[in-house]
Order: sequence, then structure tokens, then C-alpha cells
Amino acid sequence: MTDNKHPVPAEPSHGFGLEYAPAPESTSIVSIDDDYGLFIGGEFVDPIEGGAFPTISPSTEEHLANVASASAADVDRAVSAARRAHTDVWGSMPGKERAKYLFRIARQLQERAREFAVLETLDGGKPIKESRDIDIPLAAAHFFYYAGWADKLEYAYPGRRHDSRGVVGQIIPWNFPMLMASWKLAPALAAGNTVVLKPAETTPLTALLLGELMQDVGLPPGVVNIVTGAGETGAALVDHRDVDKLAFTGSTAVGKQIQRTALARNVPVTLELGGKAAHIVFEDAAIDQAVEGVINGIYFNQGHVCCAGSRLLVQESIADSFVDRLKRRLATVRVGDPLDKNTDVGAINSSQQLAKISELVEVGVGEGAELFQPDCALPDRGFFYRPTILSNVEQTHRVAREEVFGPVLSVLTFRTPEEAVAKANNTPYGLSAGIWTEKGSKILWMADRLDAGVIWANTFNQFDPTSPFGGYKESGFGREGGLHGLAPYLSLSPMKGRS
Ligand code: ADP
Repeated sequence: MTDNKHPVPAEPSHGFGLEYAPAPESTSIVSIDDDYGLFIGGEFVDPIEGGAFPTISPSTEEHLANVASASAADVDRAVSAARRAHTDVWGSMPGKERAKYLFRIARQLQERAREFAVLETLDGGKPIKESRDIDIPLAAAHFFYYAGWADKLEYAYPGRRHDSRGVVGQIIPWNFPMLMASWKLAPALAAGNTVVLKPAETTPLTALLLGELMQDVGLPPGVVNIVTGAGETGAALVDHRDVDKLAFTGSTAVGKQIQRTALARNVPVTLELGGKAAHIVFEDAAIDQAVEGVINGIYFNQGHVCCAGSRLLVQESIADSFVDRLKRRLATVRVGDPLDKNTDVGAINSSQQLAKISELVEVGVGEGAELFQPDCALPDRGFFYRPTILSNVEQTHRVAREEVFGPVLSVLTFRTPEEAVAKANNTPYGLSAGIWTEKGSKILWMADRLDAGVIWANTFNQFDPTSPFGGYKESGFGREGGLHGLAPYLSLSPMKGRS
């Protein structure tokens, strides 16, 4: 259908044919060791059985370091260190003293922000402008925010006793390594717990730098322990009998396994899993803003985002012109060296993830989707994938149902708000959604009906430490951020002996 109201501009609205000169961020601020041990009891120690794995830069495939692989025996050491620290120091420390450490961590993160950002980009492949402007500032903001609650728990939960849970096991993914570490650590520590954290195997370096930072701020030994390794290390942490609470962010398949173990042992667990968000654009939306929002919603962080707006639902009356605009805008997105300050889309995190994305796109095309990729040059080395639009996608297609976790947008259409809701909710996931319309009443009507934990209106991918984040259905349960994100780290019970 043609759309006379929103004619596509004759010339691209961005670029004007100008080329960007290279603007590489220097890596001299970062020093990477050849080998890293496990951070247990405030020290970097060798693993008991001596295993290690390499971590590489996904944008160059360059070897960065060897990192210790923690066995079940190492995890046991880390849990024991956390238990001692909880019993002897942290669990009984007044909240206002704990807060001082959290504020110190937050301030140190700000002071060393550039170092953390460069290391995050080197090890994970995300554009430096994202690690510099989003990941690391938000990580610091989480520590600041929860530092503020540490001495105010009785006001946070009035009339209720609040006890820390004890030793917390936390497992995080590779898409936002420092930010996920902060989402998990800050509320757990503010609540008086000690932690064993397991970073993802492809992105361990910033968590290990955080271990160094914990030493620098004088955090009592054992309050935070960091065990690196692959899925088996995570499984050993989940299986450990002396862990009082589990928190996991990652794939739905692993989340389900963790939930089974946690249920069998009656350990409280928070799961933040996959997503297949609907990004819904009505014909009355501010179109240029919606185009920017949809682009940001899916290509931010190479689409390695659980709440990514990976299913565009666009009203049929504007679908053709909207998709044309998206294609024009996509042609101006800069793909390449993540350390270049102008890069919009960096490297795919690993060769395995690249293979998964390529496979799913091939399946999508085989099922009848129409493929668009801009004609941009990709670096010769490293793991890169052209940002992709798949249009004419049907609800039954795998690319409409499965999480691609890459820079791939599937486009579907709808005619009425009712149809948009039905299609948006036709997924096993329920993490996030986006709505673009000029009508506030339509936003509220839609938001009431969408099964999603986070709903953005006329914007997308906004994160704030004060605001709870989490999902429904196969996207998991429990919330992170805000007071909702603090509560799971406390055992809350009625006050006794008060009238
Ligand atoms: P992805 O498929 O995106 O890599 P995963 O769920 O496999 O996501 O990984 C997220 C985190 O969970 C990583 O730190 C990973 O090492 C860890 N992990 C993987 N398998 C298990 C498991 N069986 N038990 C506990 N943690 C695991």
C-alpha cells in the first residue's frame, strides 16, 4: 500500500555522502595480564586443578589472555570464602558502613571509566561509544543507587524485618558484562549478602578488573568472589549446597535447568532470560523518531540484547514506506571496528553466535522472508554480521518465534490495535515491548494488554537503576533495578514484638 501521508524523502536524511575519518580509541589505558587467576577471598589465586581458557577480541580474533577455569572444588573455595565473610564481617556490618564501600566502588568505576570501557569493547566487541556512554556509566549508577539504600532498608520495607540471605550465587551473560555484574552485585551487597559471581566465558576481563577494583577500595576479603569458567563452573555454583540465593541472566534453556535445581533445593532464584520483543508502530506515530527508535531497538549492541525490539509490527497502511525508511537509515549505520568512536554496530561476540545468527537468517529466507542488508564493507578479520531486515515475515517463521540475539529485525504487519496485541503476545517470551503512536490513550490501552515486563512508549531501550526490569513467561521472573530488585536479596518477615 502507498502512504501519501509519509512520503519517503528523495535523498537519505543522513550521511550526505560524507565519509567519517577513522577515530580509533587508544587502548594504551588498558593493561591486560597474560594469565588471570580466580578472585577468591580478596586475592587472585590459581585454580586447584590448574585449568585455563583463552579469551579473545571478537573484532580481531587476537588472543587477549588466559583465564583460570574454576572447577567445583574452586567454586567450593569461593563459597566458603563468601560464607566466612558474611558470618564474620559483612552480614553484621551496619548499613551505613556497607554503603561507604558501595559509594567507593561507584566512584572508582567513574574514575576508571575509560579503562573499563576500552576493556569491555576489546573483550566483548561492542562499540566504544556504547561501553563509554551507556554500559560503564550505568554500572556506576547502579552502585550509587543501591549504596543509597544500604542504610535505609527499614524505610524501604517499613514494618518488616529485613535480613540478608547470606551467600548469593550470580551468573551473568556476555552481552553487557560490567552492567550485568553491577545489576547483580550492587543490590546483593547493599542488602548485606556476600557473593560468588560467575562471568561469561567470552567476556571475563572486566569482571576481573572489577576484582582488582574491589581490592583497591578495601572491600573486606570474601565479600565478592569471582569464579571464571564455562557452563560447568556455573552449574557447580548452582549445585552448591551452601548457596542461599541464586540469580541468573542468560538463555531460557539454561534458566530452566537452574530453576529445576533451585526448586529441588528450595533456594530462591531470580531469572532474567530471553526475549522476542514486539516493537509496534502505528500509522499516527512520529515517523522519523519511530525509525530511529526501531533502529536503536534492534541494532544497539549488535542486537545482543534480551529486550531488543526484534519483531517490528508496523501498521499495514504505512508498512512499505516505513520499511523503505528503515532501509535508507540502515545504509548509513557504520559497521566495523568497535574501538572506532564512530562505529554504530561492532563485532558479534563469538564465532558460535555468528554461526547461529547466519543460520537463523538463512532459515528465515528459506521460509519466505525478504532479506535486506546494506552494502557495507566488513573488516577482514573478526566476527561481523551485516545489520539485517527480514520483511514479509509470518508469525510461524522461526525468525518470528526464536531469539536471534543478533542484528536482525523481522518485520510483520497489523491492521488494528487488537491484531497488534494478539501478534505481539504470540510468543513464549514476555520481556519488553515498544509502542509508537501520537495518542496517549492508545499507549495506555496497548500497555494494559501486552504481556511484557517492560513497555516503552515513543522511545526504546531506556534503562535506569531506579526502574525495575524483568519479564513474564519464558523471559523469567523476578525484577532487577529499583526496590523490586533489592527485595529478592533480603529475607523479609513481619516484625515481631511490636504493637
Ligand atoms: P548464551 O547462550 O547466550 O551464551 P547461556 O545461558 O549459555 O547464554 O550463558 C549465560 C551464562 O550462563 C554464562 O555465564 C554461562 O557460562 C552460564 N551457563 C551456561 N550453562 C550453564 C549451566 N548449565 N549452569 C549454570 N550456568 C551456565
